[in-house]
Amino acid sequence: MSNILVVEDEREMLRGLRDNLEFENYHVDAATDGESALKKIVEGSYDLIILDVMLPRLSGLDVCKRARQRGITTPIIMLTARGEEIDKVLGLELGADDYITKPFSVRELMARIKAVLRRAEGIAAVPSERMVVDDLVLDFASFTATRDGQSLTLSPREFEIMKHLWIHRNKTVTRDELLTQVWGYDDSISTRTVDNFMLKLRQKIEEDPGSPKRIITIHGIGYKLVVQ
Ligand code: CA
Repeated sequence: MSNILVVEDEREMLRGLRDNLEFENYHVDAATDGESALKKIVEGSYDLIILDVMLPRLSGLDVCKRARQRGITTPIIMLTARGEEIDKVLGLELGADDYITKPFSVRELMARIKAVLRRAEGIAAVPSERMVVDDLVLDFASFTATRDGQSLTLSPREFEIMKHLWIHRNKTVTRDELLTQVWGYDDSISTRTVDNFMLKLRQKIEEDPGSPKRIITIHGIGYKLVVQ
């Protein structure tokens, strides 16, 4: 049984979501403001988070961003208000997996939930110790890498960056997240360092480092490893 956290401050909406999800046999936990939501996300263990954007104390966008910065990969579906296109775009850039616009039908929401859970299970089933993308093979356990059968030399830090991108493949990874996850909290390191590492990595793994196809830049936010 999947464990879902619903973050919504409107009582009626929350009750409706809870009833429908429980009817579908999901286990439901709830939070009604951004701060308590983040606390639950960090301390709890959920399979999916349904996160409203407009929340007291901390917006849904901030909750999403902070959760991802802490390395939490639980799938997130954002609930956005009609007409607030910017929230959808920002939500996805900040690491949400999907969004649904209010008002929505129960059937539509259930379909999204099932799709996101299925995708998450698929990713979990792929071993994260080995990355295979076309002719590029990285083994994070033995620290070996090849491209088109030729051995590649990557530094331990580069392996760590690639592993983080691989675990979050096809999702935007913020520079701050990379800094925290790969370098830890080190004041002497700036996001500029991340960019320099990406430049070097691209020279090793991209066919044309000048127009990268594997590690793409999400302007002003971070990077995404694209896997077809
Ligand atoms: Ca709300």
